[in-house]
Amino acid sequence: MTKDAQCLICKRQEEEPERDIILRTDAFVVRHSRETNILGYLVIEARRHILDLTEATDEEAVCYGVLLKQVMSLIRKLNGAYRIYTFSLGEAVPHFHVHVIPRTDRLPRYYRGRGIMSYPVEPGLKEEQMEEVCKSLRYLLKTSQLKP
Ligand SMILES: [Zn+2]
Repeated sequence: MTKDAQCLICKRQEEEPERDIILRTDAFVVRHSRETNILGYLVIEARRHILDLTEATDEEAVCYGVLLKQVMSLIRKLNGAYRIYTFSLGEAVPHFHVHVIPRTDRLPRYYRGRGIMSYPVEPGLKEEQMEEVCKSLRYLLKTSQLKP
């Protein structure tokens, strides 16, 4: 795997415990965000240090599309989200990762749509809350027809 020693995502994939990881494929890692209090806010990260999909192999790009569909389906099963927001910016950490955010009826109207960009990242979830939702997502993945 191509890694960058200075990259936060590369380092995290090498060093951190896997309590927040939902699944891992050859090309991607899916984890719960630690920078939110929205349950089911997932991040898909490339395992190779690439900026965006223009640097992905064709095989990785195809895997990404199928994986994104599966991750969105998992989130909908988890909490019945009305919308599922997805975006990738690559500004703060230039390593390809995609935010996949459930929008339920509990999200205040102000933060819906483009307003999600101003949703506060603090306070984050408590560790136990995050682990519980990760367990639920892993269980849903195991018991559904969704196969990574
Ligand atoms: Zn990286």
